Amino acid sequence: MILESQLSPENASYREVVLAGDYWMQVVKSGQTFRILDLEGNQAADTLFYSAADPAERYSAMDTIRHQGNLYLTAGTRLISSEGREMLEITADTCGRHDTLGGACATESNTVRYALEKKCMHACRDSYLLALMQNPHFGMDKRDITHNINFFMNVPVTPEGGLTFADGISAPGKYVELMAKMDVIVLISNCPQLNNPCNAYNPTPIEVLIWD
Ligand SMILES: [Zn+2]
Repeated sequence: MILESQLSPENASYREVVLAGDYWMQVVKSGQTFRILDLEGNQAADTLFYSAADPAERYSAMDTIRHQGNLYLTAGTRLISSEGREMLEITADTCGRHDTLGGACATESNTVRYALEKKCMHACRDSYLLALMQNPHFGMDKRDITHNINFFMNVPVTPEGGLTFADGISAPGKYVELMAKMDVIVLISNCPQLNNPCNAYNPTPIEVLIWD
């Protein structure tokens, strides 16, 4: 569902550009809204959410899908935690569809899906691991990497239940906005994937904005 934001970028309390292949990890406080802006279009932002009070509670794809009775995420979607609580709500969306089935790219999956020589290519899972190592105060490690959302990524499900990585439906300037319902740790990997169309074979920067 396309729903434009009422918030103005000039009033944002925080703005930062995140290059493709980099990560962004911050606490977003309850009541704050943050936006992920697809600056150049067809970029995938692979994102994890944890409760800041207890990171053992985290985003659950299956609870979110069951709660809304739909596989795709868009405006109105409530992101549900592994404890069944509402973590965030998508309050604006000019792309219209986001994936939570395809998972984050990893060197292992690149090897299986594409070719052996893809093993050395940088992947979202590497960015997640780097983020957790460079931010030890969160107390998380490799075992905490779990269900993620691929914002701006288009993974239509066929009538037979098949997953397809399709051309993106995002475009330059499209964005998704979420309001936090609890203090959440947000970990975004701005995806470096070159082998499938999620980034239009050309990974590009995103921008993160926060409003108090
Ligand atoms: Zn990726």
